Amino acid sequence: MKTATTQTNIASALAAATAPTGKVHPLLADLPPAIPGLTARAVHVLEQIEQAKKDNPEISDFLGLVAEEIRKAGDSPAVIDNVLALISPKTACTEYGWCVETGEHFEHFSKYTAAPNPDAYGRDVICVGLIDFGEGVRVGLLDLDLTPAEARVRLAELRAHLDAVEALVAVAETDR
Ligand SMILES: [Zn+2]
Repeated sequence: MKTATTQTNIASALAAATAPTGKVHPLLADLPPAIPGLTARAVHVLEQIEQAKKDNPEISDFLGLVAEEIRKAGDSPAVIDNVLALISPKTACTEYGWCVETGEHFEHFSKYTAAPNPDAYGRDVICVGLIDFGEGVRVGLLDLDLTPAEARVRLAELRAHLDAVEALVAVAETDR
C-alpha cells in the first residue's frame, strides 16, 4: 500500500503547508520586483510550502514541484485552487461571504480582480482583493493593506490621476 501511504503523507504535508502560522503576512511591496503577477494569496501559499518542505523533508521534492508550478504560472488562482482543494474540505467560509477559502481557515481572501488591460509585459494593473489576516477587513490595493477609509482616499487619488491622463490625451489630440 505504498501509494496510499504516499498520498496520506502528501495530504498531511499540504495541510501543514496551508495551516495558519500566526505570522503577519508581508506586504507584496516586500517582494523582489522580479516576480510579477503573484497575488498575496500565491505568495502566502509559497511561503507555507517552503516551511512544509523543512517540516516534511521526505516529500520536499513534491512540494517543490507544486511551488514551481505556482511560480511559473505567476498568478495562478487555478494552481492554488487545485492545491487548496486537495487539502481542505469544501466547506464555505463561515465569517465572510466574500471569502473564497474553504475548510478551517483563519486568513481570509476574496477573489482577486485587476484592471481589464494588463501592461505590455502581461502584468496585472491595479490589482485589488479583500483580505483579513486577523486584524479586520483590509483592501489590498497598490501593494498595500488598506482600511476601507484609506482605500477610498487612494481611489479618489487614482480618479484624479485618470483625469490628468485624459487631459494629456486631449493635448495629444489637439496640439501641433
Ligand atoms: Zn474566510
